[in-house]
Amino acid sequence: MCDGQLIGDPSTHCHGVVIDSRQLQDNCLFIPIIGERVDGHDLVEQVLANGAAAALWQADHGTPPTGNIIIVENTLKALQQLASAYLESTEARVIGITGSNGKTTTKDMIYALMTEAYRVHKTEGNFNSHIGLPLTILAMPADTQILILEMGMRARGEIELLSHIAHPDTAVITNIGESHLEQLGSREEIARAKLEIVNGLKPSGLLVYHGDEPLLKQILAEPQYVDRTMRKVTFGMEQHNDLYATGMMTQGQSTIFTTNALSEEAWKLPVLGAHNMVNAMAAILVAQAYELNEAQIRQGFAKLRLTGMRIEVLQGQNGITLLNDAYNASPSSMKAAIDVLGNLKGYKRKIAVLGDMLELGTEELAYHEQIGEYVKGQADLLFTYGERGKAIASGAARHLPPESIRSYTSKPELIEDLQKTAREQDVILFKASRGMRLEEVLQALMPDS
Ligand code: ATP
Ligand code: MG
Repeated sequence: MCDGQLIGDPSTHCHGVVIDSRQLQDNCLFIPIIGERVDGHDLVEQVLANGAAAALWQADHGTPPTGNIIIVENTLKALQQLASAYLESTEARVIGITGSNGKTTTKDMIYALMTEAYRVHKTEGNFNSHIGLPLTILAMPADTQILILEMGMRARGEIELLSHIAHPDTAVITNIGESHLEQLGSREEIARAKLEIVNGLKPSGLLVYHGDEPLLKQILAEPQYVDRTMRKVTFGMEQHNDLYATGMMTQGQSTIFTTNALSEEAWKLPVLGAHNMVNAMAAILVAQAYELNEAQIRQGFAKLRLTGMRIEVLQGQNGITLLNDAYNASPSSMKAAIDVLGNLKGYKRKIAVLGDMLELGTEELAYHEQIGEYVKGQADLLFTYGERGKAIASGAARHLPPESIRSYTSKPELIEDLQKTAREQDVILFKASRGMRLEEVLQALMPDS
């Protein structure tokens, strides 16, 4: 399966694949990955002694320790080949999800729906890389009917690789934003990078994509895409899409919405946000393609649980409500979260705590200023965190009075001010890039902290 050469006992059975010696399982196959800080080869002797049935070994690493060893040219490539070969040996149909924002959320939604009708395996958390994706495949039970894979990227060529490993039957592109603009240079390059998912799509596969994004439509009109046999369906807010929203309202912590197709009865989504309604429309199109009926889709949404820190509504200290969207941020996802705050009803004051958005490249300060302007009418108070956050504050200074804007670069000082300022019936939104770890500030406002 991975073009290796076996040294040791050919009758050995392996169960499961592990790359981290701390997660060793009895009789697993250990694959040593060469990382920046650790080279897994240094651990091979130890894992074989501690219960691994066999290990791979990269040929350029000299003589392997004694035991069941498979020598390969490159251990990372072998991991990917192994995943691909295993997947091909099963009957599982594959749904691959990419996009700038909403991949994990849409994956969770598609999972919630598909489990109404199938045995489903999905990416855990955010395991969406050239290592996480093959490991997800290798952890899949052999009788899985539907495999849902999140595909992430930081540069051109990465989605292509993932798509060639998994050969999706269905590819989903949630949206095109500005994440990784620094690495890719332009939104068009980002769109091209996401569309690489099509290159590994099975012949006559289905592409489900965000039809409100003109770049996707424009690139898909190029000959290399037009000539393909794939089917295409779109979702979004605009009326030219196959599935579009015709109305939306917030009810407690749920979003109620209607669409042009399927049913006149409103859909109920137990999470907040217009962006989540859009993600849900992608999930509905996928569910329909796999022949789920309307009742199954409704039941699936009712059971939906999102991965943490995606618009989680929490009860903080002293009757303050906290919106934890601190998982990550880019301009498009920042706006989506600010809209959620703006649309909330029944709170005294709305407070936005917004931190730096990373990896936006040379225009980063302009993007931060735009976010400051976007807060207009949607928050009463703005706290910014981080160096770039100061540009959010200057954008907001065009519409908010100076006493309503405060900028911090120290978490303890920000926490102290928030604890002094926030009162019963206030709601506070937390959002910043992953590297800012803004959830540490939120934690300090939880009742048990
Ligand atoms: P990552 O690239 O970090 O894996 P992701 O694409 O998996 O991110 P999610 O984890 O689903 O994205 O969501 C991250 C944040 O993006 C959410 O907290 C929300 O603020 C925002 N978001 C989710 N869906 C959308 C969408 N369709 N449009 C804009 N923003 C969105
Ligand atoms: Mg994700």
